[in-house]
Amino acid sequence: MSEPIAVDLCVIGAGSGGLSVAAGASQLGMKTVLVERGKMGGDCLNYGCVPSKSLLAAAKRVKLARANAPFGLGDAAPAVDFAAVMRHVHQVIAAIAPQDSVERFEGLGVRVIRASARFLGRDEVAAGDVRVRARRIVIATGSQPVAPPISGLDQVPFLTNETVFENEILPTHLVIIGGGPIGLEMAQAHRLLGARVTVLEAARVLAKDDPELATLLVERLRADGIVIEEGAKIRRVERAGAGVALFLEGASGERRIEGSHLLVATGRRANLGDLDLAKAGIAVSERGALVLDRRLRTSNRRIYAVGDAAGGPQFTHVAGYHAGIVIRNALFRLPAKVDYRALPWVTYTDPELAQVGLTEGDALKAHPGDVQVLRWPFHENDRAQTERETQGLVKVLVRKNGRVLGASILGAHAGELIQSWGLAIAGGVKLSTIAGMIAPYPTLGEASKRAAGSFFMPKLFSERTRRIVRLLAHFG
Ligand SMILES: Cc1cc2nc3c(=O)[nH]c(=O)nc-3n(C[C@H](O)[C@H](O)[C@H](O)COP(=O)(O)OP(=O)(O)OC[C@H]3O[C@@H](n4cnc5c(N)ncnc54)[C@H](O)[C@@H]3O)c2cc1C
Repeated sequence: MSEPIAVDLCVIGAGSGGLSVAAGASQLGMKTVLVERGKMGGDCLNYGCVPSKSLLAAAKRVKLARANAPFGLGDAAPAVDFAAVMRHVHQVIAAIAPQDSVERFEGLGVRVIRASARFLGRDEVAAGDVRVRARRIVIATGSQPVAPPISGLDQVPFLTNETVFENEILPTHLVIIGGGPIGLEMAQAHRLLGARVTVLEAARVLAKDDPELATLLVERLRADGIVIEEGAKIRRVERAGAGVALFLEGASGERRIEGSHLLVATGRRANLGDLDLAKAGIAVSERGALVLDRRLRTSNRRIYAVGDAAGGPQFTHVAGYHAGIVIRNALFRLPAKVDYRALPWVTYTDPELAQVGLTEGDALKAHPGDVQVLRWPFHENDRAQTERETQGLVKVLVRKNGRVLGASILGAHAGELIQSWGLAIAGGVKLSTIAGMIAPYPTLGEASKRAAGSFFMPKLFSERTRRIVRLLAHFG
């Protein structure tokens, strides 16, 4: 190995988190090295957000076409060419890839090394045969899918997010283990494109989301023809011809489900195993996760972690948020800390399910006796009526003093609508401001304004007001 190159910052991993740190640091004048062993852009671009949303976009067009009749239009479902749909998915990846490319980052002044990185010491990394000594190091190595310990699973072929977008043959029956956002998005995409789909979830689907809205979403997905089993106990899996057979515990003995394809979407583990963390003096928990403070520093104060590797919420926008925290700490020595109070997330099914801040259950636990639930159904929104997108609900959790704790939205464009609630939580915006906002008519956003306004309704119609109304009615 050659003499070490000395830099200000070494970033390990060129996914959402690593790219954001490297771009920010180099533009602020830091000598930066970025090490990537796989594809530039990491999971989000290549195996995650971008392909999954592209596949869903194609699938939703099928659903829209089938729902044309009430608009006075023909409702012939389009013919699906699954291989062509996958070509669309890869075209979208290719369209975004230049943003994350080696060329772009080298243009920003970052030295990109295409190799696997591991620690050699407290401030030194081996990137292939290049030694890098850095004042600061950022672990941005992302995560990988974890398969559950089901007997026989290691003996059968199964898809994960890393392979499912390479599959050009429409499954006749796709069985998905895992009812989280990834499992449900893939379930709906494949179902709408013509596959039979069964989702097997050991607990309840979308366990981190509001149970009421998650249940409504499950009803909608079932109406699309997806079989969803919650509390499913899979005993074993075995090959069945070209597909797989799953054996489930049932009330009257074992049940068998056969699928042409199996997708495992049961959670993800941080990529830390190859890093030789001990050589850098980086502590890990009993479960092997990085021990970080709220400034995202490891036990070696020169080394930070961002994104999925940090072991917290696994989203691209979290990786980007982490990057900002690390840049402020490592470059400007500002003690910026992570704060997830206004963290949003979205499941991009049709309808979308979006969450920010606390769910109802968490709000009740955190503020017993001091939580009011505000609701506004989509069917009372005129734009939802014009679009025939009337199923859905805005649900907002507020304290008695009107402080917004969280919001959950199920419905069309929920991922867009949730953002004003994120702003309300982060900026401490008063409910009266949201209720008094002039919202353009007709927009779905009016549902948020109405939900906020409903907080003041009982006060407007207090017992005194009601008594006056009754008296007036008596004399009138
Ligand atoms: C199917 C799916 C759909 C998703 N959809 C969404 C969504 O809609 N919205 C959302 O916000 N999030 C979504 N996510 C999550 C999102 O993709 C991740 O949270 C995000 O990619 C994390 O970014 P990261 O930078 O931490 O890791 P990654 O993007 O995984 O990047 C890590 C990089 O580090 C590299 N690496 C690892 N170890 C080493 C090493 N030792 N040396 C060198 N390089 C290394 C890897 O090759 C990889 O390129 C989705 C995930 C999946 C799987």
